[in-house]
Amino acid sequence: MSFQNLIRPEIREMAAYHADVADVKVKLDANENPYQFSDALLKELFAELATVSLNRYPDSEAAELRDIIARKLDISRDKILLGNGSDEILQALMLTFWSEGAKLMVPVPTFGMYGILGKMTGYEVLEVSLDDNFDLCTEEMISLAVREGVKLIFLASPNNPTGNCFSGGRIIELIEKTNAVVVVDEAYAAFSNQDFLPKLKKFENLVVLRTLSKIGLAGLRVGMMFAARDLVYEVNKARLPYNMNSLSQKAAGFILTHDAELLAQIEKMKAGREWLLEKMAGIKGVHVYPSEANIILFRVPGSGDGLFRQLIEDNVLIRNLSRPGRLYNCFRVCVGTDDENRQFIDALTRRLNG
Ligand code: PMP
Repeated sequence: MSFQNLIRPEIREMAAYHADVADVKVKLDANENPYQFSDALLKELFAELATVSLNRYPDSEAAELRDIIARKLDISRDKILLGNGSDEILQALMLTFWSEGAKLMVPVPTFGMYGILGKMTGYEVLEVSLDDNFDLCTEEMISLAVREGVKLIFLASPNNPTGNCFSGGRIIELIEKTNAVVVVDEAYAAFSNQDFLPKLKKFENLVVLRTLSKIGLAGLRVGMMFAARDLVYEVNKARLPYNMNSLSQKAAGFILTHDAELLAQIEKMKAGREWLLEKMAGIKGVHVYPSEANIILFRVPGSGDGLFRQLIEDNVLIRNLSRPGRLYNCFRVCVGTDDENRQFIDALTRRLNG
């Protein structure tokens, strides 16, 4: 008996998870912080981790870490839910609000996991194109959301892969004029000036997501959701009981309370972004888009997949977004160390103008 006909059609039709794997030195494809912590800080951290009882289940409520985050962001603990990366929180949100025929909406292009998880959890995924400045087309989104009874709207701001923030006024319009829960995913908040956390006081249908992945702790898998108490209470039921492992809870809590190095690294990344933006704009043939994140979208007409492969030959891995449509000939690079940024710029210049 084959198992094939037992598999859910949505899963069978999905592509397998895929990351560009290439054995390169300069890895600028995954939007990570390129810096390591100092040996002194790591030593202190590992001493702290040695106190964790690995034979015991983790604290299911992650109370200590939620308290630390609550104090840092001045928000009460019961308005915070943690996930094994914000990916997992996206899934928990979708499970919480699902019903037969449920629809969610995303602007495109945006972070692919909204659509992937949406389909996997049984939603119809409605896509609305961003405007020429990669900002939200609010009129179209609002009328579609109201007409179709959309339950969830996912807005990454700053957006991945375009790098820009959506205008705050447009996000608020969506919150006020639809009956949907609007999820503002601030994964890249540390690199921008936008902050929707204060708006939680005003809007019950607003959810804000953050993550520790982009600021230096991608390996820990710590995502954070902030929302009204009642909403957190319900989503908490859709979360797996021990989703946050003990080592991640302890390590994240330690780094957040010893964050001087982390904050300095974020400043370095912001400076690196400005340097990259300037250098890229100066390379003939490159169209570079503004960024308020640690990622930069750029277009190189006529290059297609060729440039991507050439850069791998030069030991540089970026994200190839080129496919017919809006992102044709587009690539995304994230900010690396000063040295990595220079190697990327040198390779790009040589390949395009050399
Ligand atoms: N949201 C956005 C907009 C992202 O770009 C990413 C990572 N690429 C995530 C969420 C997922 O982050 P995490 O590592 O916390 O799962």
